[in-house]
Amino acid sequence: MTRTVFRSSFLLGLAVLLICSLLFFGLQYRQTLDETYAALQQEAVYAEHGLMLSGEAYLKTLDETNRITWITPEGEVLYDSVFPLPIGNQLHCAEVSAALKAGEGRGIRKSENSGSETMYYALVCDDGSILRLSRPMSAMRYALLTVSPVLWVVLLVLLISALLSFRTAQKIVRPINALDLDRLDTAPYPELRPLVEHIRDQKQTILNQASEQETLRREFSANVSHELKTPLTSISGFAELMAKGDVPAEKVREFSSDIYRESQRMIALVNDIIRLSRLDEGGVQLPEEEIDLHALAADTLDSLQSVAEQAGVTLCLEGEHAAVTGVWQLLSEAVYNLCDNAIKYNKPGGSVTVTVSPASSGTGGAPLPPEKTHETRADDSEAPGCVRLSVRDTGIGIPTEHQKRVFERFYRVDKSHSRAIGGTGLGLSIVKHVALYHHAELKLESTPGRGTRITMIFPPERTV
Ligand code: ADP
Repeated sequence: MTRTVFRSSFLLGLAVLLICSLLFFGLQYRQTLDETYAALQQEAVYAEHGLMLSGEAYLKTLDETNRITWITPEGEVLYDSVFPLPIGNQLHCAEVSAALKAGEGRGIRKSENSGSETMYYALVCDDGSILRLSRPMSAMRYALLTVSPVLWVVLLVLLISALLSFRTAQKIVRPINALDLDRLDTAPYPELRPLVEHIRDQKQTILNQASEQETLRREFSANVSHELKTPLTSISGFAELMAKGDVPAEKVREFSSDIYRESQRMIALVNDIIRLSRLDEGGVQLPEEEIDLHALAADTLDSLQSVAEQAGVTLCLEGEHAAVTGVWQLLSEAVYNLCDNAIKYNKPGGSVTVTVSPASSGTGGAPLPPEKTHETRADDSEAPGCVRLSVRDTGIGIPTEHQKRVFERFYRVDKSHSRAIGGTGLGLSIVKHVALYHHAELKLESTPGRGTRITMIFPPERTV
């Protein structure tokens, strides 16, 4: 930052200096030009007097600062102080023809003899001849640069401005560098107050988030330990009794299947925890592809057919083919969890209906009594261009006061019932994460005793 401030202030100083110098040199140039013409004119007047009195011999006595040329009214050169004669006719020279017309003439042009740019002043003498004095422009420019003290002043000012710019830059930056991020009470400059306040707010938000995350992490760890401890205690108890030989032979089968059931629950729990942690880390690296939700739902229902039969629940697939861009494995897990719940929390003789509605058609499936509805987002879920997948059951339903919380980790409406039917309390939490991953909304509609419908609504940018 020091470098940036230094560079800008130094460049600003440099620009101002350059503009001033250009202006100054422009004026100085004009003035020197006028002065040089005046000097040439004065010398021409003196030389004309001498010439008229003493003839050509007088011209030879003059010093050679300026070139002197004596020309007849016809343009023939009679004398030149620098170049040897003969020199070509001079009538075509602008200053000579001007002098013949007006008595005097002046101008700047390239010299035919030296080839360099030259200032000319021509004067008509009493006898009608012309006396011309000239001086190369280079001499004048050189004098302008070296004689003028401004050049040195410019260099000095440049040096001082570089030093001052550097010191100013350091002075501005020092308090900003010294800013203590742990004690953001005051801003080094009033202009920086909004920035400092913004940093302070941001810091507070990060701290709050970190503490919230820490609380969640602790709760999660405590829950996981608790959830794992229950089946482990059962397994350990059954195994201990069997090891002691306290279990009658006819009960061994029953105990073994209890151990099997509890270990299956542990495996399911650990699998769900692994899935959730992966989704949590945002480290899902699975490739996205075009997924036909109708086909995906058909697969899921197939795999759950035997479970549904055991529970006395019929499965049904409705709607049309509709594709979204997503991760097959994640969407398949989410739809599986929704259908699995719809079977688990159903009643014998009940049904589960999965409906896939392509973009632009209405919500799928038969309507549920509208009184109890909870949406995970308040957006208008009926927005056009969305693809919907809903899982509707005719089960026990979810009481209104629990509807908001069922997507939380380990949240169950009826703990013992959920455990008894092999629930981990993580199924809907996974569904929520998968929906978030696909930028889909979740809508939950439920009426206790009549059934539940959970709908995933995919935004238009996800639909194919
Ligand atoms: P679980 O493994 O216990 O089913 P979930 O996260 O899948 O955990 O669901 C959380 C809770 O939400 C369940 O314990 C159950 O009480 C309730 N629930 C989920 N789906 C349904 C449903 N279709 N019908 C009734 N209750 C449900």
